[in-house]
Amino acid sequence: MAEVAYWWRGRLHSEREAPQLAIPLKLVKIEAVEWLCPRCGERAEWSPEPRCPRCGARCEPRTLVEEVPELVDAIEALERAFNRVCKARVRGAVLLEPFGIFVPLFTWKLLDVELPDGSRLVGVYAGKPRFLKRGFHNGSTTTFELPGNLAAIVWSGAVECLVFEVEEPEKLVELLSG
Ligand SMILES: [Zn+2]
Repeated sequence: MAEVAYWWRGRLHSEREAPQLAIPLKLVKIEAVEWLCPRCGERAEWSPEPRCPRCGARCEPRTLVEEVPELVDAIEALERAFNRVCKARVRGAVLLEPFGIFVPLFTWKLLDVELPDGSRLVGVYAGKPRFLKRGFHNGSTTTFELPGNLAAIVWSGAVECLVFEVEEPEKLVELLSG
């Protein structure tokens, strides 16, 4: 079985030292190639071919195995993180129009938490399921139900609202804000 590491704000932790909401990620082995000088062991400079920066000899390839954390998307990462604290289940995701339109509808707790896929958790809302208005550029709106009790707002070039059913939403909001 692959080893598990805990990821939080761009850093890997062991299980013992991981913050409570750190995201469990599997470490996957990948093969990488580096070019080394056969004489002095320096790493190659590439321009236009792999040459040693010290003695100029032509470098040779060496395969090495690197362990890197697996890539998971925002919704999977947050579900794993929340499940470490209490029972959590994904209820869905919806793309929203940019902030201006929906901010007045909720009291979002503003955050800035980096996620493993490069997106950012920019806000959370904990409370009863409720209806949310979604706006469009042409001026029309639709209303849809936010079914869970914890909504996570993620920015990944677009604003996405990820909805979870969790046992202790207030506790999660508190931990995320800490
Ligand atoms: Zn060399």
